Amino acid sequence: MLKRNLNEEEESMRRARITCFVFLLLFISGLVSAQIPNPEEVLGFRVGTDRKVADMHQIVDYFKKLDRASDRIIVQEVGKTTLGNPFIVAIITSAENHANLGKYSQYQQMLADPRKISDVDAEKIIDAGKAIVMVNCSIHATEIGACQMSMELAYDLASKNDKWTEEILGNVILLLVPMHNPDGTQMVVDWYKKNLGTKYEGSSMPWLYHKYVGHDNNRDWYMFTQVESRLTLKVHNAWHPQVIMDMHQMGSSGARIFVPPYVDPYEPNVDPILRQEVAKMGTFIASEMTAEGKGGVMYSSIFDAWTPARAYHHYHGGIRILTEVASVRLATPVTIKFDELSNEVKQPSVKIPLPWKGGKWTLRDIVDYDYSAAKAVLTNAARLRENWLRNFYRIHKKAVTRTEPPYAFLIPENQRDLSTAVKMMNVLRMGGVEIHRARESFTVDGFQYPEGTYIIYMAQPYGGFAKALLEKQEYPEFREYPGGPLKTPYDVVAHTLPLLMGVDVMPIEKPFKVQSAKVDKLSLPKGELNAVNNAYGYVWGHATNDDIVALNRLANKGYKVFWASESFVENGKTYPPGTMIVRNRKGLAEGMKSIIKDLSVEFEALKAKPGVEAFALKPVRLGLYKSYTASMDEGWTRWVLEQYEFPYKSVFDRDIRKGNLNRDFDVLLFPDLRTNAIINGIPEGSVPPEYAGGIGEIGVKNIKEFIQSGGTLITLNSASDFPIKQFYLTVENTVESVERKDFFIPGSILQALIDPTHPIAYGYERGGAVFFRRSPVFSAREGKSVVRYPLHNPLLSGWVNGEKYLYNMSAIVDVPFGKGKIILLGFPVLYRGQSHGTFRFLFNSIYYGAATRREL
Ligand SMILES: [Zn+2]
Repeated sequence: MLKRNLNEEEESMRRARITCFVFLLLFISGLVSAQIPNPEEVLGFRVGTDRKVADMHQIVDYFKKLDRASDRIIVQEVGKTTLGNPFIVAIITSAENHANLGKYSQYQQMLADPRKISDVDAEKIIDAGKAIVMVNCSIHATEIGACQMSMELAYDLASKNDKWTEEILGNVILLLVPMHNPDGTQMVVDWYKKNLGTKYEGSSMPWLYHKYVGHDNNRDWYMFTQVESRLTLKVHNAWHPQVIMDMHQMGSSGARIFVPPYVDPYEPNVDPILRQEVAKMGTFIASEMTAEGKGGVMYSSIFDAWTPARAYHHYHGGIRILTEVASVRLATPVTIKFDELSNEVKQPSVKIPLPWKGGKWTLRDIVDYDYSAAKAVLTNAARLRENWLRNFYRIHKKAVTRTEPPYAFLIPENQRDLSTAVKMMNVLRMGGVEIHRARESFTVDGFQYPEGTYIIYMAQPYGGFAKALLEKQEYPEFREYPGGPLKTPYDVVAHTLPLLMGVDVMPIEKPFKVQSAKVDKLSLPKGELNAVNNAYGYVWGHATNDDIVALNRLANKGYKVFWASESFVENGKTYPPGTMIVRNRKGLAEGMKSIIKDLSVEFEALKAKPGVEAFALKPVRLGLYKSYTASMDEGWTRWVLEQYEFPYKSVFDRDIRKGNLNRDFDVLLFPDLRTNAIINGIPEGSVPPEYAGGIGEIGVKNIKEFIQSGGTLITLNSASDFPIKQFYLTVENTVESVERKDFFIPGSILQALIDPTHPIAYGYERGGAVFFRRSPVFSAREGKSVVRYPLHNPLLSGWVNGEKYLYNMSAIVDVPFGKGKIILLGFPVLYRGQSHGTFRFLFNSIYYGAATRREL
């Protein structure tokens, strides 16, 4: 009680101080500009104050106030986020430029497509245009400094009238995205405030800071699976910025800020002009900040520029300036002694000429560093406005006048999964890629292609983006020392969409001529239904993801659905194992009719019951394990399951500890998690007790009972270690203790051999492509090996060291266990929502897990 009274007294004194302070500020700011509200007066604290953070609502509210008060700022709501919050962008420039925004965005469109203008026109636009800078704050919501800083930056640009401000406002149009992940900002601020003043202050949140993908939300810049990625594209593609800042934070004990240039390698389709511009801007920031006396500014370290997943801009004429500032515990300061700093940042070097001396590090320091970096970027963009615009034009001019092979990529309409092929082309189209269709049949290199073939010409503004995603990656060798291990890439190294998605695409190395027209809209192919009276039932295929969605819709409506477990002949046609069969019943015809409206499924009537064994399927009670270690793979799995209409329930540690799992579930699915994370969870004492600990020994026992009583456990990628060790399977992960110098595959696409007679692989062909990343390699002495690696180097795209460790080893194993089974899916079958080609290994496993085999 006494404590509380004291606090109240302190609080009222503090309020009085703030009120005085605010009046004083109002007085001073009145001299600068009449009504622009500053962040401190609106928030009630100075931005960056220890233990104080503005949440999503406060930030949106502040920007709306700025919009109303200033003729230099327009705030637009681009759309709603995944959780329905506003995703805003503030367009900041002089009032005069604001009056001509349409004209300037038009200029950008013209410079971005040199097919439409002459070099003379281009020079006129370069003379008259503005540099476009986009600043994206805090996509990783715990890296909260940037979104706090954005309010100060916007306020200064709205209110100041000094020479610098005028120069920026006159020459630059700033697209400021104050929160690149508004949902996450709200979540982490709520979590932080809830635990403020407790021993859990500054602890990590025990769930993802994006509903589905958490930290992977900045690995989505070519697949555009998430709402926020698509909203960003809307802004980006309307403006084609020359400079994009992505403001992040990193660990506490390294440099105070990282700025580009990046380390090798660059993805080969990034124009060399752009690479130099990245270096130009990066070193400019570094020199400005060092000149301001800010220590610990470092470049050429850690971060590379290989995957397009983080760098959409590099294929669209803009530089990506990544900044990574050292973190605190959200808003709680930290102290780092000089001795505790990493060795790399202690001694002056070319990369870091002015090291930081150690000491206290606060949110305000982060805000100051972020502000300085943004200020330097704006200064450079304003002063070199003309260079930025001209080089932007040159990059696109090179792209549209490209003359070297490949000339095009062809996508035949005759595809195993045309629906997924269309999805792939729509992804490219979102990235500005033009797709044409042949209006006649034509011959290239001795092969004839029919009319209707899709053509992606390389000589187009974003041909490089298409090429990067359609070709195979050859990751260059950068070794730690001659003969030593490969330098660890910062991220995965393969991103060949046709392989990931299972789409047939042909690169064309020779010039060719064909009448073709640009496609304005690519609709998903429709299905087919030949309904007959008194049919026994209907069959459809198993080779596409749409086929599975159709299965979900019918099974969940209670229709009796089967997979033929052997091939059979009917209507003079041979149907392979896995063919889907649905028994006729009232309403089925209507149900199928509605399915073929949006799914590319072909239903054929069966006059009589085929004499064949089959798996009888049922709606599966699926439990998806959700750990408080906040697994991104769990989030991606949820996202994919929802996209493909699989009902599921999240299963928490407490549910598994409680036991009796067969009552609620047929199948338990464990996303990519280490055994320690599953069993022990987050250590006691580092989060509030309700989130600490994993499933524990009791949970292990309960899962064992669940499987032995007939349940199915499916494990994704490294989670396979859990049942292998805990349930003593005679399946071994043969690369578990192999050193990185001997075996290393940093996110590559590999050839795999598939057994299409096994239910997990129904609908597949004998050969396929799988994504391998931190994956196990199985030697199985029990169960059935469903997918294995070949007896030769399986590399299709990316990089492999130590391929002999893969020869003839298994990637997917189906292990009977008691009355149930354990299905080890030993690679990321749903990899970041991209590997459409291997989704069905999971989809099949789910149904197979709850199926019974019997005479049809
Ligand atoms: Zn980050």
